[in-house]
Amino acid sequence: ELSVSLPKLGKDEIGGLGESIRVLASDLDILKNERNEFLASISHELRTPLTYIKGYADIARRQDTSDADKDTYLGIIFEESVKLSKLVKELFNLAKMDENTFSIEKEEVHLQPYFQSIVEKVSPALKEHHLELFLECSAGLYAQIDPIRFEQVILNLLDNARKYSEPFTKISLIVSEESGKTHIKVIDQGRGIPEEDLPRIFERFYRVDKSRARSLGGTGLGLAIVKQLVESHGGTVAVTSSKYAGTTFEIVL
Ligand code: ADP
Repeated sequence: ELSVSLPKLGKDEIGGLGESIRVLASDLDILKNERNEFLASISHELRTPLTYIKGYADIARRQDTSDADKDTYLGIIFEESVKLSKLVKELFNLAKMDENTFSIEKEEVHLQPYFQSIVEKVSPALKEHHLELFLECSAGLYAQIDPIRFEQVILNLLDNARKYSEPFTKISLIVSEESGKTHIKVIDQGRGIPEEDLPRIFERFYRVDKSRARSLGGTGLGLAIVKQLVESHGGTVAVTSSKYAGTTFEIVL
């Protein structure tokens, strides 16, 4: 009976099968290339802070370096170490997400107090940059989220809004419910993202202005983590932006 149900492959089908295998194999090649590119990016990203640390440590330990210069160099070494540990931590989190060895523990969360407490947490840091954060969230909204992981999503988006905004502009966090779905928007009035970069900003290590993003303390992984976390909540994240007119990230759960 088994032999009856097996498709008889004619010459065309065999050709078709060969074609599918070829397509599959080239997909695998793409995966392999992506992995190689990713590894190359990682080593580059690790090497950059290490180069600073090594270089400045070397000058700082020279006999003829003044104490004042030493202080400056130690400051740089410290900052670069902070960047390095952030990068390692984020890479580790992404690796865990890739392997699915981390779990999302969803619970029913009352959104108004939840977002209010996030706003209270980040507002002082934003104030230091002369940025004001406004929250708009109606009372009585609930959503099934992992409160800790989802906070990471919002913190990453707010941190970007801070990094890419000019002082004395505003940032809004708007939470609403539309046709049974929760919409969360983070809106800034910052420099915006050029249209040609928009499709790529969720990629790991993709940055519009590499050196500038780096000097702002960015790792290039923030949005990749946002996307992974939102998707593991079963949601979507989208971006709209225009140069110099600000950026909106919208999450739908
Ligand atoms: P980074 O650590 O460099 O901020 P992200 O993954 O968080 O990395 O973001 C990727 C890039 O997208 C950033 O380098 C920046 O160019 C751009 N970007 C992200 N958020 C914003 C924003 N709110 N306004 C302008 N550009 C942004």
